[in-house]
Amino acid sequence: MSEKTVSDKTVSEKTVSDETARRILVTGALGQIGTELVPALRARFGDDAVVATDIKELDGALGADTAAAGLYERVDVTKPKQLADVVERYDVGTVYHLAALLSAVAEAHPQRAWSLNMGGLIDVLELARERSLAVFVPSSIAAFGPGMPDPTPQIAPQRPTSMYGVTKVAGELLCDYYHDHFGVDVRGVRYPGLISSTAPPGGGTTDYAVHIFHAAVRDGHYTCFLREDTRLDMMYMPDAIRAAIDLMTADGARLPLGHRNAYNVTSFSVTPAELADAIRRHLPEFTIDYAVDPMRQRIADSWPDRLDHRAAQTDWGWRPAYDLDSLVADMMRALGA
Ligand code: NAD
Repeated sequence: MSEKTVSDKTVSEKTVSDETARRILVTGALGQIGTELVPALRARFGDDAVVATDIKELDGALGADTAAAGLYERVDVTKPKQLADVVERYDVGTVYHLAALLSAVAEAHPQRAWSLNMGGLIDVLELARERSLAVFVPSSIAAFGPGMPDPTPQIAPQRPTSMYGVTKVAGELLCDYYHDHFGVDVRGVRYPGLISSTAPPGGGTTDYAVHIFHAAVRDGHYTCFLREDTRLDMMYMPDAIRAAIDLMTADGARLPLGHRNAYNVTSFSVTPAELADAIRRHLPEFTIDYAVDPMRQRIADSWPDRLDHRAAQTDWGWRPAYDLDSLVADMMRALGA
């Protein structure tokens, strides 16, 4: 990490036109969010404007063949030189930084989670400082700990008890620091559990809310790893993608420190039993039972039931398009039920 003083505040706020002029790079692009974010960014800014990257070999996630998958590079975000080479080669101006270990995997491998979630983030932020990049970094409901009020306010005590949550709070603060001290235009949201029909989820505590749909359509039955009354916030992937792009194209002057890297966003909060009822309105024979996984239940019990997302509504006009019923209807259609 090259040394620069606090007063060396040379990186300026980005605007939409900057974003369209230089390319957009997505890290962790073959994961649950990236496989839908990359096509959405290409639809908006042009096929040539987006470079997808991941530590994995290109699989079918972004298109059946290499040409359909568009610009793609293998990049390990914990190797700063690999990142810097790709940023330089493709004239990147904005990074959507998605590479991370999710909650259940992070709990099983805490040191790995720290080195990827924090090491990858500081590599990206350093590059952003040196090369005037704008950066999107997703945080999570996991950034809160047990006993939060319902709904949990934008600004509230953050004492998470999972390793994933520890990295998310530390990440929010690191992003604030890079903005405040070096002027880096970094922005982020606290996503709830994300439900989508394309890529499988990457090992989080809310994965049940994706698995349940596939199992319902395929087998007519699902065994859930969380208790039936576990209430958590959820969001449909199209809303999550829109939140990321809307925040990154919002007027930076309207995003105060303390909000800009950690906007609470949500669509609805739901329990496994309520989600099963909503699916049963489409598949009346669907059945669910429960085999609770103590580790994931403990993580879920430590998270808020519901976030207050009024700061995102006020500062940049956030508004989800899907509620529980419209999400379930769309998932059923997407899965051919
Ligand atoms: P995911 O696990 O589905 O995908 C992560 C991707 O990162 C994978 O494709 C993986 O191969 C890649 N990766 C792993 N190590 C890497 C490395 N060293 N270098 C480059 N790539 C690497 O995750 P996701 O669900 O797409 O989540 C993306 C971000 O959003 C994460 O920061 C996550 O914490 C956050 N988030 C996700 C959810 C959710 O429900 N999916 C909710 C809240 C926050």
